[in-house]
Amino acid sequence: MTINNSIDISEQLDRILPTIQKPGRYTGGELNQVVKDWEQIKTRVALIFPDIYDLGMSNLGLAILYDILNNKPDLLAERAFSPWTDMEDAMRNANLPMFSLETRHPLSDFDILGFSFPYETLYTNALNILDLAQIPMFTSERNSFHPLVIAGGHAAFNPEPMHAFMDAFVIGEGEEVILEIVNAYQDWKESGSSRVYLLESLSNIWGVYVPSLYQAKYNYDGTLSNVEKLVDTAPLPIIKRILPQLPPPVTRFVVPYIDVVHNRLPVEIMRGCTRGCRFCHAGMISRPVRERSVDEVISAIEQAQSLTGYEEVGLLSLSSSDYTHILDLVGKIGRKFNKQHLAVSLPSLRIESFSVELMDALNKSKRGGFTLAPEAATERMREIINKPLSDEQLLDTARAIFDRGWTKIKLYFMIGHPSETIEDVIAISDLCKAVLSEGKQRVGNRAQVTAGVSTFIPKPHTPFQWVPCDTFEQINEKQGLLKRTLRGKGLKLNWNAPEDTMLEAWLSRGDRRLAHVVLEAWKRGARFDAWKEHFRYDIWLESFQAAGLNPAFYTHRQRPIDETFPWDHIDSTVRKKFLTEDYLWSQNGKTRVDCRERCFACGILPTFTEQRRNNPGDVWKCPEVKSKRLPKKELFTKVNAPE
Ligand code: SF4
Repeated sequence: MTINNSIDISEQLDRILPTIQKPGRYTGGELNQVVKDWEQIKTRVALIFPDIYDLGMSNLGLAILYDILNNKPDLLAERAFSPWTDMEDAMRNANLPMFSLETRHPLSDFDILGFSFPYETLYTNALNILDLAQIPMFTSERNSFHPLVIAGGHAAFNPEPMHAFMDAFVIGEGEEVILEIVNAYQDWKESGSSRVYLLESLSNIWGVYVPSLYQAKYNYDGTLSNVEKLVDTAPLPIIKRILPQLPPPVTRFVVPYIDVVHNRLPVEIMRGCTRGCRFCHAGMISRPVRERSVDEVISAIEQAQSLTGYEEVGLLSLSSSDYTHILDLVGKIGRKFNKQHLAVSLPSLRIESFSVELMDALNKSKRGGFTLAPEAATERMREIINKPLSDEQLLDTARAIFDRGWTKIKLYFMIGHPSETIEDVIAISDLCKAVLSEGKQRVGNRAQVTAGVSTFIPKPHTPFQWVPCDTFEQINEKQGLLKRTLRGKGLKLNWNAPEDTMLEAWLSRGDRRLAHVVLEAWKRGARFDAWKEHFRYDIWLESFQAAGLNPAFYTHRQRPIDETFPWDHIDSTVRKKFLTEDYLWSQNGKTRVDCRERCFACGILPTFTEQRRNNPGDVWKCPEVKSKRLPKKELFTKVNAPE
């Protein structure tokens, strides 16, 4: 039986849902969900997070786009998430297509499907959703009757491994561009033109990459020669989208019935980071730093709390203690929401006593764990990664934490940083023991130190994009050493499996040929690759073999400084020249201060001169632009010039 409408889907769901785990993942109907009259709406968008509901509902990007689209009278946005394996089996047995939560329409009935890719290990889930939705997997196989399939998120800064499956990618911030994409879609629908026309018009929007309008050429040694455009009007490079000024935060969040990863109000206080940690993908691609005002944040919390009833607010950013007005903000929240007992969480704090004072002000009674991320355990290594901090400063912070009554400290490290020696690894154990010893002197045997040790992946668009990733053997040796030395009462070690690191490294550094591998892996049963219990490393190795590719080529090669990367045509606006210089600086242990203290001309300002000039003052953390000098390079074509 073919099931292709919301009534049949609802009937089947009534039958299936009592037989599967957590039916609340698939019912919709939550507080603040938006249901519009399907027949009255001109353009319908499905926003898809390709993992389960429990994770996707905590994704701020999805909530922002849901709000923006549903605020427009002629648009609707509905949500869809990956079905967990039991639900997938039930859906396939019942021939039930992938559907939206709000109105249970099949995804194939939507005009636009927007996938969210905050990280790369969601790719096989995205293919699985397209398959369950009975939509052709390849962009080349879709015609005017199929939905437009687009994707965005941090992983889209190297879109190439998914180039064959997505019609277009949003590079950068989605708040404005999503509406421009919808407008282009509506114009195309009215024009009755071919799908190629739609794709070409999308490519003229600032921040949109249409991979089918380009081709990649390779050298004999397998490295990329260049990416060429196939139509004259397609931009090259594709410049990331930014918002010159952050819009007011979303306040109407859909409130899940079931437990999700973060049961709290997420309020983004600042975007971007000025610290320049050399391993940090997010820090590089999200420049420039733009802040929201204290009043704007407070009024958003007030409104959002009344609309959702949440008892905790997360003040989100890449480095919350760097927000200029953090003390003022926290003080005002404390006074204003005192009666509601609103808890405040501040993820991503710097290692400094100021962070401890801040947490102290927030959590007078709650004294759970305190998290710090030194990332490396020796001063030498912290200089190489540009997170300079002395051991003494770190121990000072640890003392301040224990002195204020916390008993548990979590320390995040990475192994595999460039030029790492075995002494740098042993130092992780030594430093944890030194912190524990400080704790024992202050809180006795209640002191606990947990080391979370992941493996460094040289991410695209960072100063370390040239360096190789540790091999399986190197990772095993280093982890073995830590398992032997980092033990004893009060010490705990968590680590990432080397297989997980390899997958993330392949997918984040891959070129267009990786699309074969992703497809093969999905065909062989890869799903939920970010989940330990489902990830099948053997499938991925077989898939590389089937595609005739060597996985080590992508992960374990030291790249020559002049190598063309598969992501070079995607312009993060931090120039490659700057990244190269920063990489060379790292080899000499040369550090950069926070770029709020001194601008290093990373490339942001020549690209976004006009945007900075039109937003004077300290909303941006880059220097002001007052001169009337023209931007150094022609940024946008007439069609896509930002207003
Ligand atoms: S332009 Fe200067 S201040 Fe702005 S992000 Fe780049 S280095 Fe930092």
